[in-house]
Amino acid sequence: MSVFFRYGAMNAGKSIQVLTVRYNYLERHQSVFLYKPSVDTREGANLIRARIGLEAPVDAMIKPDTDVEELHARMVAAQGVPNCILIDEAQFLTRDQVRQFCDLSDRTGIPVMAFGLRSDFRGELFPGSAALLALADRIEELKTICWCGKKATMNARVVNGQVVMEGPQVLIGGNESYTALCRKHWKEGKSAPPLPA
Ligand SMILES: [Zn+2]
Repeated sequence: MSVFFRYGAMNAGKSIQVLTVRYNYLERHQSVFLYKPSVDTREGANLIRARIGLEAPVDAMIKPDTDVEELHARMVAAQGVPNCILIDEAQFLTRDQVRQFCDLSDRTGIPVMAFGLRSDFRGELFPGSAALLALADRIEELKTICWCGKKATMNARVVNGQVVMEGPQVLIGGNESYTALCRKHWKEGKSAPPLPA
C-alpha cells in the first residue's frame, strides 16, 4: 500500500499526469476512482482538464465535509473495488481527509496518488499539501520553469498584471490568474521579464 504525493507549481503538468496515469490503468482494464476537491463549483469543475486539450470527468467531487470512507464504500458499491485512486488538486483536501485516504490505502492496499500544489500565493502550505508532505510514502516534485529559466517553485497570484501577496487562500470566480515563478521573482513580484528599453 502506498500513498503518493506529486507536487509542483502551476502548469507543471499535474493534470496531464493524472490523465496519463488514469489512461494507463484503463488501457490495462484496471479501474480507477478519479477525485477532485470541490472548492470550485463553476461549470466544468467536475472535469480534470489539461492545458494540452485532454480532459476526463471526475467520479466524485470531494467537499470539505466529505467522509472519505463513506465515499469509498458508496463508490465500491457502484463500481467495484478500484486498482488505484487518483486525486487532482489535492492541496484542497482537509488534513482529516488525507489521513482517511492513508488509512484507506493501509487497510485495502489500494494505491492513492495525489497531485497538487505545495504552497499558495503567499508562500504558505495548503492544508492538504501539508498533510501529504507529512504522511505520503513517496513524494515527487513535478518541475516547471520561471520566465527567467530557473526552476519555478512558487505560485504568484496576478491581479490586473500585478503580483499580489495578501488575500484569502482560495478565490473563486475572481479575475485573478496564477503563474509559476522562481522564489526570487515571486518575492520581487516580477511575473514577467522586464520590457526592453
Ligand atoms: Zn525567475
